[in-house]
Amino acid sequence: MNYAIGIDIGGTKTALGLVSPDGQVLSKASLTTDLSLTPSDMADKIAEAANRLLSDEGLHQTDLKGIGIGAPGPLNTKLGQIAEPPNLRSWWNFPVVAAFERHFQIPIVLENDATAAALAEKWTGAATAADHFVYITISTGIGAGIYSHGRLITGATGNAGDIGHMVIDPGAGLCSCGQRGCFEYIASGTAIAREASQLLGRQVTSKEVFELALSSQDAAMKALVDRVFGYIGIGCVTLINTFDPELLVIGGGVSQVGAPLFEAVRDYIKLHALNPSGRSTRVVPAALQQDAGLIGAAALIHTNY
Ligand code: ADP
Ligand code: ZN
Repeated sequence: MNYAIGIDIGGTKTALGLVSPDGQVLSKASLTTDLSLTPSDMADKIAEAANRLLSDEGLHQTDLKGIGIGAPGPLNTKLGQIAEPPNLRSWWNFPVVAAFERHFQIPIVLENDATAAALAEKWTGAATAADHFVYITISTGIGAGIYSHGRLITGATGNAGDIGHMVIDPGAGLCSCGQRGCFEYIASGTAIAREASQLLGRQVTSKEVFELALSSQDAAMKALVDRVFGYIGIGCVTLINTFDPELLVIGGGVSQVGAPLFEAVRDYIKLHALNPSGRSTRVVPAALQQDAGLIGAAALIHTNY
């Protein structure tokens, strides 16, 4: 009754792990999220992998306290359903909790993946001492998990923190959500690669853009990167003005660029946060890059969030 399985369902891969009550990942596995399968068949495969994690450790379902699932939004945690995530189209309206209940007769909890990652940072990561913080992931898209007054803010249906669709520049291009100039449309890894590829006339990744801007000092790439850092600063100031956090934790692939991003964001906050104390909000890298999703999913079972 002491273990939890955390499952992090993503558009390209699904990670799962067996996690102890003190947050140690005892064993883990990763599956390709095969979008040519029905979500029901894919859930069966994930359940099979979860059972394998147990049997490899000589454990049984009776040793489990529960299963936590993190999945991309929009979703509906009240109904235990995926709603309409753009990168998981074949899963739209899929009752994911019920699908796992066919295999496991124990508590099964669903939350948004960024919310789960925020809980992981609170549990064993960069925010263990914070009662008020926002976790921001800048990756293929942009999302956030909000932790305030010592608890997660999940909203009525588990979709709180979907900051990727906060409009930053209404003069910019059309986002998949129908608005113009959303945060993730102009500042995600996808956005950086799209803008740079257009400027250079060849396909580049966001990692290459940072290399061109920061080491070879390509002027156009440097201007693009500075603009994006500014947008991320704007997003952070809005979060500081809205939630008054003591700490911002930034994770996701784009945050791997490290110091240049963190310094630019801190400088922007120092100038533009409204509240004098907000201007010195601490901004730190996520501590649990790779396993944050599955640890956070397990934390849904192991902690009182
Ligand atoms: P996911 O979005 O599937 O969670 P990641 O968090 O790895 O995956 O984010 C992927 C995005 O981050 C891509 O746009 C990728 O180009 C970008 N990225 C990954 N590593 C780096 C890096 N070291 N520097 C800059 N960008 C990176
Ligand atoms: Zn949008």
